[in-house]
Amino acid sequence: MKDPDCLFCKIVAGDIPSTSVLDRGNVFAFRDVSPQAPTHILVVPKDHVRDVSALGPEHGELLGEMIAAANELARADGIDTSGYRLVLNVGPDAGQTVFHLHLHLLGGRPMAWPPG
Ligand code: AMP
Repeated sequence: MKDPDCLFCKIVAGDIPSTSVLDRGNVFAFRDVSPQAPTHILVVPKDHVRDVSALGPEHGELLGEMIAAANELARADGIDTSGYRLVLNVGPDAGQTVFHLHLHLLGGRPMAWPPG
C-alpha cells in the first residue's frame, strides 16, 4: 500500500530523487538529505506504515528486515566496529517529521547519550 501524499512513498517509487543505498525485498534505504553524522541513512519499508506503533502481525518480519539492512549498511560504510545508533522516532516529542516509518542509521562520530 502506498500513500500518494507521502514523501517517502514518492522516494521509494523514484518520483523524488534520493541517494539510495539498498533496495531489497520489502525494504529501501537512502542517505538522509540533512545528515546529522558522517553516516546518516534512512531505512524504510516500501509499503506505507505511519510509524513503528502502527506495526502489527500483518507486517511479519518487516522490522527485522529493516534492522538487518541497517546492520549490513553499517558494515558497508565501515562503522560496524566504531559503533552506530539506530533510531525510530514516534510522534511529536520524539521529533518525528515524516510519517512513514523510518529507521535512522547514524554513525561515524561519537554521539552523546542521552539525546537532547
Ligand atoms: P524524523 O524527524 O525522524 O521524522 O526524520 C525524518 C528525516 O527525513 C530527517 O532526518 C530529514 O532530514 C529526512 N528527510 C526529509 N526529506 C528528505 C529527503 N527528500 N531525502 C532524504 N531525507 C529526507
